[in-house]
Amino acid sequence: MFNYTSISDACIKCGKCIPVCTIHQVNPDETTSPRGFIDLLGAHERGELDIDQNAKQIFESCFLCTNCVDVCPNDLPTDMVIEEVRKEIADRYGIAWYKRLFFFLLRHRKVMDIASKLGYVFKSCAVKSDQKRGGLIPRFDLPIIKKDRLLPSMAATSVLNSYRERLDHGGKGRVAIFIGCLANYNYTGIGHSLVKILKRLEIDIFFAKDQKCCAAPAYFTGDFATVEALAKSNIEYFESFIDEVDAIIVPEATCSAMIKHDWAVFFKNRGMDEWAARAEKLNEKIYMATEWLAKCTELPSLLENSGVASDLLVTYHDPCHARKVQGVYKEPRALLGQNYKMAEMSDPNRCCGFGGVTIQTEKFHLAEAAGKPKAAMINETGADIVAAECSACRMQISDSLYRADSKAVFKNPIELIADVLEKSDA
Ligand code: SF4
Ligand code: SF4
Repeated sequence: MFNYTSISDACIKCGKCIPVCTIHQVNPDETTSPRGFIDLLGAHERGELDIDQNAKQIFESCFLCTNCVDVCPNDLPTDMVIEEVRKEIADRYGIAWYKRLFFFLLRHRKVMDIASKLGYVFKSCAVKSDQKRGGLIPRFDLPIIKKDRLLPSMAATSVLNSYRERLDHGGKGRVAIFIGCLANYNYTGIGHSLVKILKRLEIDIFFAKDQKCCAAPAYFTGDFATVEALAKSNIEYFESFIDEVDAIIVPEATCSAMIKHDWAVFFKNRGMDEWAARAEKLNEKIYMATEWLAKCTELPSLLENSGVASDLLVTYHDPCHARKVQGVYKEPRALLGQNYKMAEMSDPNRCCGFGGVTIQTEKFHLAEAAGKPKAAMINETGADIVAAECSACRMQISDSLYRADSKAVFKNPIELIADVLEKSDA
């Protein structure tokens, strides 16, 4: 477990974290800043601060973007101590019914499949489609979500239910796909595009049908029982096939970071060292999809020699969990730059403002405020497309662009790469 007092003592109050802090940018107050959070946690551990409703609201306003960790000269783990205190908050105040329902569905894929199917069939009663962005807009205020907001689309069939478990494409390699919940149920074009790319590369696929949610939504909300159940189930399942594949590839930054980084941290902090070691052992074969495709396949030369030169201008947004947590930012740009015109936005590393389940529901005004500057910097590039390998960023940025009436639409780089290969084959 973290010692809040020693972390608080190690903060030299240099203030380097303040200008980059996402919540401080939208709520410029010392209490909602990295060193403010750390100070409060130290006071809490010393018995000087009760986690009352006010403290709860403060700790729930952190976006967990890790910007502060990136710049802190003492490497203070602000994001991780906030995740820990959210467990205490959840134990004391409980977790709202709709979050408990959501996490139940994440733990029970078969029930989630049925719920998703029902949502697809009856969606037109409550939402209308936005064809341009491939999203849904509520017709009226819903219990948790207000109208005039762009929500993710829903698919008739999930990605995992669209394919056989084993797809043989020629045996030049063999990978498993961890698809992530948003890509499985909502942004299904990502999974279908990844299959097209791997087929073109003649790489076999093991569609790991029994995978469960990576547990990131529950981790960021303090539901640690769900995190433990999901992480253990996935670890046991991954171990059952890991020796048969070259890699497990994940076209989602948050899921990949959770699996590669947070599972081990979570188990270590609870004294479950054996589970932490098992999670770490798997890490050698876990990759973000663009990273693996760029480093371990013929895709770069295939794209270079495709003869496709798109007129579309693309700008790349760096998901916090890709660049800062996993160091992945060159690979998607290198792959996209072969066939698309690229333009860098003024601060691609600035958090999109997604923030997690609580910020997307109870504190959506914070997500809205954090999303405005990101939409503005995308618009300044004049880009037709903003790309990022993260569906949480997609949900947030698509909504911000919709509110800003931007011409830009969001695509995962995997979808853009598959489009190039399709054009080169035509
Ligand atoms: S994780 Fe992000 S929002 Fe939270 S304190 Fe650090 S910089 Fe601020
Ligand atoms: S950058 Fe680190 S040491 Fe400096 S004020 Fe922020 S948390 Fe404290």
